[in-house]
Amino acid sequence: MDQFRKLKDTAILDRPPSGVQQVNGGWRGIFFVNGQRIQVTPETRVLFKLTNLEKKVAKSARKRLTENGTESEDNFRPLSSLSEITSGMMMTYEGRRDIETGRILAERVEFSKNDFEKGEARLWKGLKVKVKPGDALGFKPVELGISNVGKFKLLPDDEVHKYVTNLGQRLIPEYLKAAPDSDPGKLNFRFFVVIEKEANAFALPNAIFVINSGLFDIVENEAQLAAVIGHEIAHATQEHTWRRLNYRKNARMALGIASVVASAYGAKDLAHIANMVEGAIRNGYARSMENQADRVGLEYMVRAGYDPREAPRLWKQMTKAYGLQVTDFFWSTHDNQATRRSYLMNEIKNNYSDLNYSQVRTNGDSFNRIRASVKEGSSLKNTIKVKSTRADFDRISEGMTYEQVVSIVGTSGELISSNELAGIKSVMYSWKNASGSNISAVFQNGKLIQKVQ
Ligand SMILES: [Zn+2]
Repeated sequence: MDQFRKLKDTAILDRPPSGVQQVNGGWRGIFFVNGQRIQVTPETRVLFKLTNLEKKVAKSARKRLTENGTESEDNFRPLSSLSEITSGMMMTYEGRRDIETGRILAERVEFSKNDFEKGEARLWKGLKVKVKPGDALGFKPVELGISNVGKFKLLPDDEVHKYVTNLGQRLIPEYLKAAPDSDPGKLNFRFFVVIEKEANAFALPNAIFVINSGLFDIVENEAQLAAVIGHEIAHATQEHTWRRLNYRKNARMALGIASVVASAYGAKDLAHIANMVEGAIRNGYARSMENQADRVGLEYMVRAGYDPREAPRLWKQMTKAYGLQVTDFFWSTHDNQATRRSYLMNEIKNNYSDLNYSQVRTNGDSFNRIRASVKEGSSLKNTIKVKSTRADFDRISEGMTYEQVVSIVGTSGELISSNELAGIKSVMYSWKNASGSNISAVFQNGKLIQKVQ
């Protein structure tokens, strides 16, 4: 029984808190945090974790107190002002759900700083992205390589990438977008669509998102796609991989496994990190983290103006396509489609019953066109035929610029295609030779990489 069970959760705040007021010695109001409404009353203990400086002061004070025979081990003090809390901090709350209102009636709320740790930086660094140009005629697709994760075929359509990036940007919390580039913890969000049949997507802790082309066969509208991407963004913004790693580290330290304590995420642990990341991609995170990603994902959807009810509807689609089995889709292996759907429906009832549903949307103008492009791009067969030869053309070699080629052939040729994908600009020119057949050359970032006669 959810309403009687004690709940405890931790979330990273993506907005400064509002909706609560200080009342004689305590706080009253509702925090909307972690995709949930957390109600505090003057009986709720609302605390702030001591900063390092405060800890030092408290320690020396404790020393004095100990001499007097009293001692407090508490690292927390009552929250004095809402201005102490900023975006990016952690909030942990404990309480029970009120069935009437769907709110969490908090007994204890703690706020604490969330520093960008060295190990976290190392984790990000261990997941480097490399985009390898394919054979630009499309025989071999552009390859997306992610170290410690794998290699993928990038969908050869820049418009699709722009569309998905734009959708993702609208779902990302503002404070993360506003972080200065000099901030070492700034997430550089990148979205990739890869050619893969299975309806799936995953997120890496350094905000690299991979979306399978097959997902577009399942989603009916933009809001459903936003539900998937919002869920994945929440995994990154809530630092699920890092929190899971730390949880494991603490468990290992408790067991006294010295090697982990000693290396504290040095190079040796890269393999461990890779396992962790792979496990999360394949099986999802812990159930509590999947639930959090769902709730926070709904919040992102609502803020971007989408109808949150499309998230559970997506699960109906998944059942249609894959049946009612437990899957490892972007969701995890913990529950089947029906369970995930009812969880989402419950959370919508608990948290968005007062949303004005006439103001939310399910689709975007370009969704249907983009979906058609994904279908086309993922089934593209190349049909360029190799034609006859010409003496001058033999003098053209790899590495030449377009201007050098023009000076050899004698004419400027016809521009056949031009596109830019993941920072690589590809252009293809074609010339007719003396016997009327085509000769073509492909340039990437200004240099000839392939010629076809
Ligand atoms: Zn997930």
